[in-house]
Amino acid sequence: MKIKVSNVSYTYKKGDKLALEDINLEFNGSEVIFIMGASGSGKSTLIQHLNGLLFPCKGKVEIEIDGKTFLVDKKEKNMKELRKQVGLVFQFPENQLFESSVLKDVMFGPKNFGYSNSEAEKLAKGSLTLMGIGENYYNRSPFDLSGGEKRKVALAGVIASKPKILVLDEPTSSLDNKSTQEFFKIVERLKEKGVMVIVVTHDVDLCYEYADKVVILSKGKVAYFGDYNNAFNNEEVLKSVNVEKPFVLKAKERLLVEKDVRSIAQLVEAYREESQDE
Ligand code: ADP
Ligand code: MG
Repeated sequence: MKIKVSNVSYTYKKGDKLALEDINLEFNGSEVIFIMGASGSGKSTLIQHLNGLLFPCKGKVEIEIDGKTFLVDKKEKNMKELRKQVGLVFQFPENQLFESSVLKDVMFGPKNFGYSNSEAEKLAKGSLTLMGIGENYYNRSPFDLSGGEKRKVALAGVIASKPKILVLDEPTSSLDNKSTQEFFKIVERLKEKGVMVIVVTHDVDLCYEYADKVVILSKGKVAYFGDYNNAFNNEEVLKSVNVEKPFVLKAKERLLVEKDVRSIAQLVEAYREESQDE
């Protein structure tokens, strides 16, 4: 599995300023990649290039899955196959829900991609269970759900088709803290199963806890691309792109903890251990 973005520029209207400018990125294998950056920096525009909702104005996007290479371009003949393999959950889940019941909604993806009715139902029920949506929701209208529930149903709908690459635009913006943590446990499980997960978020703390790789966009350009642990080292870069330092890093520095920690729980444990050693 590989995504290669080469010299990609994009503008929504001829003559407008570039929403993406000369982007070069390469993602490999089952990694969790976080895409960060201020509002308007091009995050949503970039990820829509990964399943052919947008095509580059300049440069190219190539995606290799199971030895097959797709070019994200008007000329690509296997766009439906690509969209099956690259599942995208929009920033606003209500844009994604449209069936009369939750179960039908989640079955839509698998059916659209050629699974039989009974297979689609099985896949849908499996992914609803994974998202913590019980049977009592199956016949409810997706439009009567709370923001968090809609989000979970939209996520279930994309996961149900078993994409190899999962792209999530601000997936936790309407989830509470507990649901967010549960959701990232699911992301970790998908990663173990070999899925590449790309997450767009403003949440630096989530990013620091769960990312393998980090992309920081600024005004349509790549300001940082690399390992998660180097993404927040350079305070000047962070300031220039309007990204905060993760809380756990700030607290670790204050508490003089030496061990590398990624979550508050790890920080507390390391703090205890290191203060016992003294
Ligand atoms: P982000 O997701 O990081 O907030 P976007 O990718 O949505 O950023 O936007 C990048 C740039 O493209 C911004 O300048 C935004 O105003 C512009 N843009 C986004 N969507 C559209 C659109 N549908 N039509 C015209 N311009 C757009
Ligand atoms: Mg966006």
